[in-house]
Amino acid sequence: SIPLTFFGGIGGASKCGILVKGGNYLEALSKTGVAVFDKTGTLTKGVFKVTHTTPADGVTEADLLESAALAESFSNHPISKSLREACPGLDAKRASDAQEIAGHGVKTQVDGRTVLAGNARLMESEHIDYTAAEGAGTIVYVARDGQFLGSILISDEEKPTARTAMQGLQAQGVRTVMLTGDAPAVAELVAKDLGIDEVHAGLLPADKVAWVEKLLAQKPEKKELAFVGDGINDAPVLMRADIGIAMGALGSDAAIEAADIVLMDDDPAKISLAMRISRKCMRIVY
Ligand code: ADP
Ligand code: MG
Repeated sequence: SIPLTFFGGIGGASKCGILVKGGNYLEALSKTGVAVFDKTGTLTKGVFKVTHTTPADGVTEADLLESAALAESFSNHPISKSLREACPGLDAKRASDAQEIAGHGVKTQVDGRTVLAGNARLMESEHIDYTAAEGAGTIVYVARDGQFLGSILISDEEKPTARTAMQGLQAQGVRTVMLTGDAPAVAELVAKDLGIDEVHAGLLPADKVAWVEKLLAQKPEKKELAFVGDGINDAPVLMRADIGIAMGALGSDAAIEAADIVLMDDDPAKISLAMRISRKCMRIVY
């Protein structure tokens, strides 16, 4: 039987917008030793703004942006949503046969031509002769029928509570780790700014699982590993972690399903609060 205090703890947490799917997760939470985070949509807002465009020779900025936005017509990825919002009013019927390639980008038929929008890895795997760009943000490269159209620099913002969230965890003796598919340059900037202990970037979804496995093997005895993500490409890691925590507002249905704990308002600072609630419960139970 479940001790009554667990109900109190779960109820108390839910009043703070923290949905805990069972007393066992509350107990696990009280023993968290490592908290692993996804970046986009978890520690950052996941709302990108276009900050710079670099069209290739003979390509207009409008063609570059519209091609990218149309190619991103059908994806729920935060990058896709942001590129669509940067080009409102386009007819999505011009786009079809969209393929989303996890950790790379999209490949879509636009006006009957093949458009690619994604990172350098996508350009390389599709053998596009592209010009590498640099900047403080995420770079989306665009190509059409094998021809490079240029790059778009987009930037995201850290969530206002992300830094205090990390401090709250560290104060409770929890090691913080960030795993991201984004490029190392952006990842390191964010990790440094937020004071994250360890960061691994440029990861494919399968690499994230491998890192979680490694961290699970390394964690101190009797300690638990929590993974926190928005669920876009990270449902497998949410399942693999001792405690899977999903962002509920921005997160996908798959993530909410796969998670043990859901943060209804996407606020990372709620994790250290949930841990404090769980510790209080455990002191009453034992
Ligand atoms: P994160 O770990 O930051 O949540 P993802 O695993 O979702 O990132 O994606 C990793 C990288 O793959 C992104 O930073 C981006 O470069 C590229 N990417 C993924 N999906 C898309 C998309 N729909 N459009 C463009 N680029 C994408
Ligand atoms: Mg993600």
